[in-house]
Amino acid sequence: MIGLFGGTFDPVHFGHLRVALDVVQHLQLEQLRLLPLAAAVHRRQPQASPEQRMAMLQAAICDEPCLVADDRELKRGGPSYTVDTLHTFRDELGSQAPLCLLVGADAFESLPDWHRPLDILGLVHLVVMQRPGAPTARDPWLREQVEQRRTDDPAALRLQASGLIYFQTVTQLDISATRIRRLLAQGKSPRYLLPDAVLAMARANRCYAV
Ligand code: ATP
Repeated sequence: MIGLFGGTFDPVHFGHLRVALDVVQHLQLEQLRLLPLAAAVHRRQPQASPEQRMAMLQAAICDEPCLVADDRELKRGGPSYTVDTLHTFRDELGSQAPLCLLVGADAFESLPDWHRPLDILGLVHLVVMQRPGAPTARDPWLREQVEQRRTDDPAALRLQASGLIYFQTVTQLDISATRIRRLLAQGKSPRYLLPDAVLAMARANRCYAV
């Protein structure tokens, strides 16, 4: 089973990488694709260029074979609607292959505002990465989806191609790309929040310097 994890990755950090590995190991994914988005739909645009974000991502995961950087959203350009990306995976994998989309709890809460959320649930399972015991689904439509689709059995995700919602508790690391960019802009070190190779690239290319 393959998993997909989209983000700005501006830059990629240990928060992303650790939760990615948590899910890979817990769900025994053969592969997890990390997909940097081209243009954000709901937030400000990334600071580093697509090429820089992709290169930093590749440097971060080069020695972890189950993590793979996927640049299809960067190549497509324009707003990165998840539903469009998922259709390209379905074209490649066919309709029967189980496919999991990893989303943070914050992103999951905003699912009703995404482009075509019901289509997304028809294309993939959602794996919601959350804090232990965190409340989820304040939105009534989303709560209904959770009631209808929730499974607590990871094996169930392999028995159908899409449509289930699975909540996974992941390692809590209070790291954000915003903080890393801010530290760099202030001339301070964000070391130990992200891989050294990523930091070296960010510095060499002055991705986040003022
Ligand atoms: P920014 O600070 O620029 O908003 P970010 O650190 O949140 O960036 P993104 O690339 O926007 O990183 O995140 C992509 C996905 O990774 C999101 O779904 C987000 O919830 C998740 N994520 C980011 N940081 C962490 C973290 N420390 N632990 C768990 N998940 C994270």
